[in-house]
Amino acid sequence: MPDAVDATQTPTPRRKPKPARREIAGRPLKPSTLMMGHGYDPVLSEGSLKAPIFLTSTFAFESAAAGKRHFEGITGLREGGAEGLVYSRFNGPNQEILEDRLAVWDGAEDALSFSSGMTAICILMMTYANANDVIVHSGPLYAASEGFVAKTLSRFGVTYVDFPAGATREEIDAVLAKAAAQAAERGGKVAMIYLESPANPTNALVDVEAVRDARDAAMPDTPIAIDNTFLGPLWARPLDQGADIVAYSLTKYVGGHSDLVAGSIAGAKRWINPVRALRNTMGGIVDPNTAWMLLRSLETVELRMQRAGENAAKVCAFLRDHPKVEGLGYLGFIADARQQDIYDRHCLGAGSTFSVFIKGGEAECFRFLDNLTIAKLAVSLGGTETLASHPASMTHLSVPKVRKDLLGITDNLVRISVGIEDADDLIADFAQALEQV
Ligand SMILES: *Cc1c(COP(=O)(O)O)cnc(C)c1O
Repeated sequence: MPDAVDATQTPTPRRKPKPARREIAGRPLKPSTLMMGHGYDPVLSEGSLKAPIFLTSTFAFESAAAGKRHFEGITGLREGGAEGLVYSRFNGPNQEILEDRLAVWDGAEDALSFSSGMTAICILMMTYANANDVIVHSGPLYAASEGFVAKTLSRFGVTYVDFPAGATREEIDAVLAKAAAQAAERGGKVAMIYLESPANPTNALVDVEAVRDARDAAMPDTPIAIDNTFLGPLWARPLDQGADIVAYSLTKYVGGHSDLVAGSIAGAKRWINPVRALRNTMGGIVDPNTAWMLLRSLETVELRMQRAGENAAKVCAFLRDHPKVEGLGYLGFIADARQQDIYDRHCLGAGSTFSVFIKGGEAECFRFLDNLTIAKLAVSLGGTETLASHPASMTHLSVPKVRKDLLGITDNLVRISVGIEDADDLIADFAQALEQV
């Protein structure tokens, strides 16, 4: 261990903003208010109202002692990482402001930003899984997440056990017992319980509270991580239901304009710091331009998600009764009592991404899709514009038929992510496209 650092030598990092105001007269400020200023002090940037984009690979230390202290944090000799800016693979002003603001939305102690959602998820899993460990995950996951566990981590001796998104407490208990036995046999541990809710494209919800209770009973030291891309940060707050780490593709609702790719995780420092250490080594931090774009996006994330959610409710009310529609996979109209119970305990809104089952099959879906004039045909979701796709022949094309059937990914399923256009225009467009089917 190095000698204790003399407190009188501890540099005051000049770029740190003055303590942000988080409440007025005892009333905590809401995230939508904090997005305009939290974590940024114009005085440190020539009075610039908006944060400049800091394009630099490295940062000048105020003194040699300051440099030493930063590296004690970076190398893990001291907990908590660097206290100031060091090198752009580790941190930067735009990224730090972004991370402060992302943490606000999830009520998390800390957050980390990444170059994509998948970079966040891969580095998170690599941080916690060692050879011979087992990862328990809900299914289905985003295809690349599922592939990373099954095809990449398996090469490093990590196995997995999965369970269907809607599983009950008893079923989750049984899965954890099976995973614990598998880990014991291999001389490892259950490294992580990794969830994604709602599942794509079926919209099945995971009972995070049941997973937490099962974890607390069977393996209290195992972290629960959850991909909250579909409902976060507005419509679901999984840290409140007992998840330890929340992961995002910021490419979707948070970025919200279909013009960037980025990711993040958030949670208690205890869980985030080890991930930071691996990110410091590997890189994968979001770049300053994209971080700046995300600060722009966060100012309107609540407005955009509210409007998209209202639009989706109107569009789904129209589609539900349409003679050419067989059914909907929309969280606003849940048919199953258990799923409704999970929704009531976990969700603050039904989102704006859903499935519509057209009467017929691929041919009917393609006619519908090809006749849409407002909605664009594209994968992805959560942007200002409405997107539509056909999972069976696009995102899930390589999924074997048996698994598709198991997951309910049928040939007559169209996935729609509703944007912030005028709801009546969207309904008129869906109506004329359905006419052509
Ligand atoms: C898009 C997506 C990802 C991957 O994010 P990228 O930013 O594309 O790397 C992960 N999980 C879910 C649920 C997603 O929709």
